[in-house]
Amino acid sequence: MKIAVYPGSFDPISNGHLDIIERAAKIFDFIYILVSVNPNKKYIFTDLERVEMLKIATKHLSNVQVEASNQLVLHYAREKKAQVIIRGLRNFFDYQSEITLFQFNRSIDSTIDTFILFPSADNLFLSSSSIKELVLFGADISNYVPHDLIEMITRIILERAK
Ligand code: ADP
Repeated sequence: MKIAVYPGSFDPISNGHLDIIERAAKIFDFIYILVSVNPNKKYIFTDLERVEMLKIATKHLSNVQVEASNQLVLHYAREKKAQVIIRGLRNFFDYQSEITLFQFNRSIDSTIDTFILFPSADNLFLSSSSIKELVLFGADISNYVPHDLIEMITRIILERAK
């Protein structure tokens, strides 16, 4: 059984994340989406909201489970008997951080590999921070986040910006 972990902040989830999840779900038998909880990082959405949004967005995928944890990704992956960590790579900035993260993870546990997926063309320039900015400038985000979540994401970003 090929099991993978897809970790991230998902603050909030975008169509770029969902595209990676849907494509990975066809490759791996089971995927755990790990919502990272880092007390030193400032998120707009709470852990519970980030988990809830991912659950709604992936409800059509039977081999995906969403959880939040403050564990090291590698420890979480070991606990779930996952062989692979999935990451998305958009550009050279992602490349730099992903290769560093990969080498760091590998030095801790070489049995868990990293699987990189490139975004589909529509999502190449999409990031969680650009979604936050678009909402604050009153722009339409319907092409960038899962349809069921447009209202929730817009409302929460506007509420918390006050
Ligand atoms: P970070 O770990 O920088 O907070 P996120 O939580 O936003 O990143 O994303 C988790 C993973 O999803 C990372 O590997 C990131 O590169 C990837 N990702 C983010 N946005 C996209 C996108 N538009 N297309 C493909 N992958 C993406």
